[in-house]
Amino acid sequence: MKTCFKCGTEKSLSEFYKHPQMKDGLLGKCKKCTRADAEQRRLLKTQTDAGWVDKEKHRQRKKNKAMNHEHPLVATARRAVRALGRSKDFHWHHWSYNKNHHTDVIQLSPMEHRKAHRFLVYDQEHFQYRRCDTMELLDTRERHEAFIRNMIETQED
Ligand SMILES: [Zn+2]
Ligand SMILES: [Zn+2]
Repeated sequence: MKTCFKCGTEKSLSEFYKHPQMKDGLLGKCKKCTRADAEQRRLLKTQTDAGWVDKEKHRQRKKNKAMNHEHPLVATARRAVRALGRSKDFHWHHWSYNKNHHTDVIQLSPMEHRKAHRFLVYDQEHFQYRRCDTMELLDTRERHEAFIRNMIETQED
């Protein structure tokens, strides 16, 4: 447990971002406060720095364009799941980016999701993932889900 210097709340260590320069390797304020501060800074910037706003808009547009160009299916698939609803508590994970599978998604907690992707390699030709160890193509939802659930359960963080 560690106490956040900002909100004064005692929280578990997983509630703090890593920070190598700090004595205990963690930031002094909790994730919630860190995010709130970042949002605050953003807001201030948007109100006071017109140049920054323009640059930021441009950067976002460029990023979206690049993504659409490289992975048109990924962009469409992301748009498709938006209709399923969004939450901070879970993510929709695509086992396949093929058109028929755009909303055939697997619900994972953000932590599980991050972990799952550590063991997956995207195959640009099949629009599906391979196991990072055997490079086997996970070409059915069953195979894909069994693999990631197993990794999530058995692998260390
Ligand atoms: Zn805090
Ligand atoms: Zn995913």
